Amino acid sequence: MVLDLSKLNPKEDPKDRPKVLLLACYDCKSVDEIPYDDRYLRDNKPGHDQNRNPFLHAMVERHPNHRGMLADADLVVWQHPDGKKQIVEQFQKGGSPGLDVFGTNLLS
Ligand SMILES: [Zn+2]
Repeated sequence: MVLDLSKLNPKEDPKDRPKVLLLACYDCKSVDEIPYDDRYLRDNKPGHDQNRNPFLHAMVERHPNHRGMLADADLVVWQHPDGKKQIVEQFQKGGSPGLDVFGTNLLS
C-alpha cells in the first residue's frame, strides 16, 4: 500500500517533520534506527551534516566492512507499519532516487 503523505498533515511542510536516520546493512540484512542529532543542520542534500552524528558512527562501527545505505526518513512515516514496510522495500531495491522520504547516501 502506498501512503499519501499529504494526508498525514496537509498544513505541515514534510521537511519540518521529525526525521530518523536509517542504516540499512546489506550484509546483516538489517535496518537500524539512529536518533537524529538536532545539533546538526538538516538539508535535502545527500551526505548532509548528520554524517557528524555520533550515534551514526557508533552504529556504523557495528558493521565493519559491510555494505549499506544510509537514509533519512520521515519519523511519522517510519513509525507507521505501512510506511516502514515501504521504506524497507526501498532499501531492498537499493534505494530509489526521487522518493520523497529519502536522501540516500551510500556507505562504502
Ligand atoms: Zn552489517
